[in-house]
Amino acid sequence: MKNLNYISTRNKDYKISASEAIVQGLSEDGGLFIPESFKDIHFDLEELKGLSYRDLTKEILAKFLTDFTPEQIEYCVENAYLDKFDIPELVELTKSGNSYFLELWHGPTAAFKDMALTLLPYLLTTAAKNISEDKKIVILTATSGDTGKAALEGFKDVENTEIIVFYPKDGVSLTQELQMNTTEGNNTHVISVEGNFDDTQNGVKEIFNDQEFNNLLKDSNIVLSSANSINIGRLLPQIVYYFYSYFELVTNGVIKLGDKVNFVVPSGNFGDILAGYYAKLTGLPVNLLVCASNKNNILTDFFKTGSYDLNRDFFKTISPSMDILISSNLERLLYDKLQDSSKISNLMNDLKEKGIFEVETDLFPEYLGEFATEEEVHGKIKEIFKDNNILIDPHTAVGEVVREKLEDQLGDYPTIVLSTANPFKFSKAVLDSIAPDLLVDNEIELSKILEEYTKINQPNSLKGVIDKEILHDQTCTRENMRNEIKKVLNVE
Ligand SMILES: *Cc1c(COP(=O)(O)O)cnc(C)c1O
Repeated sequence: MKNLNYISTRNKDYKISASEAIVQGLSEDGGLFIPESFKDIHFDLEELKGLSYRDLTKEILAKFLTDFTPEQIEYCVENAYLDKFDIPELVELTKSGNSYFLELWHGPTAAFKDMALTLLPYLLTTAAKNISEDKKIVILTATSGDTGKAALEGFKDVENTEIIVFYPKDGVSLTQELQMNTTEGNNTHVISVEGNFDDTQNGVKEIFNDQEFNNLLKDSNIVLSSANSINIGRLLPQIVYYFYSYFELVTNGVIKLGDKVNFVVPSGNFGDILAGYYAKLTGLPVNLLVCASNKNNILTDFFKTGSYDLNRDFFKTISPSMDILISSNLERLLYDKLQDSSKISNLMNDLKEKGIFEVETDLFPEYLGEFATEEEVHGKIKEIFKDNNILIDPHTAVGEVVREKLEDQLGDYPTIVLSTANPFKFSKAVLDSIAPDLLVDNEIELSKILEEYTKINQPNSLKGVIDKEILHDQTCTRENMRNEIKKVLNVE
């Protein structure tokens, strides 16, 4: 097979291998790594249909990670997905009214990020071996709640790695905070940051781009890497469930092989929906990709007007994992459309300096953008429970509200709504939607009340989080993040 190079979105002449891209995470020029070209990456539907989730993952990864041996890919996939999910095929498609919910939350932390974050530690440590990197890899992650715990679980006790998770102090749910702060493992570190997710993410990005700081770490034989969806190793595993769910519809006789489907994706950092775009680029028959946002609807405005405008209020919503104004992975889509790394650098510079950039709206014919208000989300959770006895979480509800709003534009194609979290991860918002009279202050009690009221069980992974010992409780300011890292790593 031909070797696939990866380039930076901000410098197309910076070419590296897949392994190097995964280990580096983010390019030094601030750009994100992407395959140099998609023209040699094409999947034949006939060949892939009928494969198990694991085997499908191996086929897809093999075309993107051309410097991994088949044995390495086998090892990574089999170990990552061993025993960690509560259903054999990892994901499940559930029909509800006119939607198919693709449940991506059967992994260890009950949210879709497990799909990739169970695999990333294996990809990363294997990649490091491939480039004979014997440095300690330090995973630095900013989280709006779900990435943090999934990454901590994935990297916990993985040899030669340390993981440091920063989360916005008041920007995650109590369950999310407890999940993170009770993580065991001899290499896990969790620190909250004063401010919102964008502050936290920007703080982490600055550290990645801080040459002086990186050199200091290098002297101690340490290299920083990222578990956020800016890491290409996070995105690739996410391509798989687009294909898998498509084949499920074929198997169930809903479509014939080759027919088109729509996907509605609750979006924050734009990683999940970008994986859907990569699925389309590599051969999946996709009609439309719908970018569903909450009240932080910067992406809705972007797809309607071509203007990405940060000059707006930031809202805390009941779908906190989507409370994001700077959607990092949009840069990868822009590169694919414009094929010009200096243009990308200019756009990103405009965003940094003026808080806004603009492109032509007709660049994105396969995309629609729409958003859901908080009231609509509450209403939808209630409606789906009353009508179908199915509980959905607020992120998934954003997707379903948006699907319904755009129904007329989606054509006669079946529509798959990505269900990104188990509802018990957001018990308060869910109970508030279906039985507000039963609300109590204690968020952990809420889950039990929700179980009793709905007769639906919470996943084992979420039970008992309140009884665990708090092992992490540090807070810092954005300015102080570097110092916290130095302390954790014993670097002067
Ligand atoms: C992270 C997350 C999202 C958003 O995914 P992106 O890849 O950031 O667009 C949506 N829902 C849940 C539950 C999440 O954890």
